[in-house]
Amino acid sequence: MKVAVIGAGIAGLTCAFELHKAGVDVEVFERDATVGGRMNTRTKDGLAFDVGANFLIRAYQRVNALAGEMGVTLHRASPVAHRFYRDGVFHLMNFTSIRDIFRLDGLNLVSRFRFLAFAVKVRTAHAGLDFFDLGLASDDLNREDAYSYAVREVGQEFADYILDSFNSCMMFSRSTETSVAAFLSLFGMMADPAFDFSVMHAVGDMRAIPEALAEKMVVHRGCPVLAVEPQGGSWSLATQAGSSRFDRVVMAATPLAALKMLKSGPEGPAALLAQTRYASTINASFRVPMEALGRTHCFYVPYVENRVISEFTNESLKGEHTTHEGTSLVNVGLHEEAALRLLGEDDAKVFEVVRSELLGLNASLREVADRVTPYDLQRWPEAIPKYDCGQISRVKEFLREGQGREGLYLCGDYMNAPWIEGASRSGQKTARQLLRSLA
Ligand SMILES: Cc1cc2nc3c(=O)[nH]c(=O)nc-3n(C[C@H](O)[C@H](O)[C@H](O)COP(=O)(O)OP(=O)(O)OC[C@H]3O[C@@H](n4cnc5c(N)ncnc54)[C@H](O)[C@@H]3O)c2cc1C
Repeated sequence: MKVAVIGAGIAGLTCAFELHKAGVDVEVFERDATVGGRMNTRTKDGLAFDVGANFLIRAYQRVNALAGEMGVTLHRASPVAHRFYRDGVFHLMNFTSIRDIFRLDGLNLVSRFRFLAFAVKVRTAHAGLDFFDLGLASDDLNREDAYSYAVREVGQEFADYILDSFNSCMMFSRSTETSVAAFLSLFGMMADPAFDFSVMHAVGDMRAIPEALAEKMVVHRGCPVLAVEPQGGSWSLATQAGSSRFDRVVMAATPLAALKMLKSGPEGPAALLAQTRYASTINASFRVPMEALGRTHCFYVPYVENRVISEFTNESLKGEHTTHEGTSLVNVGLHEEAALRLLGEDDAKVFEVVRSELLGLNASLREVADRVTPYDLQRWPEAIPKYDCGQISRVKEFLREGQGREGLYLCGDYMNAPWIEGASRSGQKTARQLLRSLA
């Protein structure tokens, strides 16, 4: 039994590792020279920086377990604050425990009480939900968008400054494009006293876990798969080096890339890939003097306050290797709306627009404006999947009816839940489904 996994992001690597442990002959094909996909790290001009995902949280059970298995140490970046922007000021917005709701001084007292009451209600009424396994939510919760629901149930202020700002910061799209199921799963978890949203970093940075996983298996790096086609009961994979045959194929690339490869085969996978939507973003990093950076890790910028920047993070908190000659990085993510406008512009134009907005938002950076200089720019047409009502229902149906048909499997963050935890769990689930089909 030979299995090909296409894509060495965390989803594909987790899947391949589970298969490898079960004794399956598995080969991973990766387009890029490095593994990790949207979970990667580079070093430039003396500074190490994460490209794509830039932090883990304590509540990532699967990722924590993988790190342990790989011997990668995770450490808590502590104590750090998260803040959201309102009327010229960054206000505290931590979610390490339910008590933090009282400390949200950017919300009026009535909104804070409504938020608390809502969190407790969600916790009791929807105890079985899990943000990292969105398929657990019933179809009833997949009929309305999170924003409209939050305005009605908790209030406008909460919807704009907490929900929408969290959504735009972590997923780059608006909460009008997220389902109630995803919203309740997330806020229900946050209301659990055992839930821990503490920021975690890996020793060796984001690339450490994917690199350690790749060491354990056969991974063809710099080897894009050009075509995937069924051929007489097995699958043919074409690369620049020629074509090879596999009994099963796991496509663990993002939907646009997967669609390009899939030349024929059952209809279900192609239909799901074509209907899946991702939010786009651009990440612009700036080199800044250390004295302008405090202990705030993540700055959330609500759409109602600024339509260009959705968030920025202080990279200096990851350790000495992310600082150099008294400088470190501020990593800025854009709201999807601005990213779509700027994706086709040249780097200089994007840096100019983002720098001007950043200085407008952050007074400490404004004071050292002449030393806030462009460092790196990444365009992400497919940044994070949109977990709208349709996506969750379509994936559930596909997992019931289409996954594994004719030996073809789909895997990735869009198949389960967002972020590294959602992607890794998708990899684990896919491996289990495939192993069941062999039993
Ligand atoms: C800017 C940004 C910030 C983020 N921040 C965070 C964060 O702080 N924390 C967090 O948990 N998550 C974050 N995420 C989300 C997280 O990075 C992703 O959800 C997760 O890494 C997705 O993993 P994946 O394996 O599903 O996909 P990917 O990582 O995209 O992996 C797909 C792989 O397929 C490969 N591939 C594509 N085409 C081919 C081909 N033809 N042949 C072979 N290989 C191919 C790609 O090169 C890639 O390696 C962020 C994402 C972005 C873009």
